[in-house]
Amino acid sequence: MTVCCDYCGKKAKKITGKTLYPRHEYLWGKTYFRCEPCDAHVGTHDGTGEPLGTLADRKLRSARMDAHEAFDQMWRERVVHRSFAYRWLRKRMGLTRTAHGGGMTFEECQFVINLDEEITEKLKATREIWETWAALGGDNG
Ligand SMILES: [Zn+2]
Repeated sequence: MTVCCDYCGKKAKKITGKTLYPRHEYLWGKTYFRCEPCDAHVGTHDGTGEPLGTLADRKLRSARMDAHEAFDQMWRERVVHRSFAYRWLRKRMGLTRTAHGGGMTFEECQFVINLDEEITEKLKATREIWETWAALGGDNG
């Protein structure tokens, strides 16, 4: 499989976690695609070896982590169920694919981080509707 760097367009090299994270032995068995000049990499699915998303450089990796954190807070604080939160986000962002950290661009990450408050408020309101519906004996599925 050929995976190209999203920054320079060159072919990314397949490396192991031992090269990428020499201090984290639990990652040595993992496989990654990496573009060294751009300091960009992406993990792969254990079974298929396919990349989990697009190659991310340091800036994008950090943005993805922040977005992930902002978004996770929502369902961790039991505002809504996780799968619903993901469906809602995908719709709000107009994505056809699943909104998840691994595939998000820098702009999408910024969007999530900035929308964190709006999302939380809206999802809280949605949950209230659901709870009222359930209290009235409605189907909660
Ligand atoms: Zn590159």
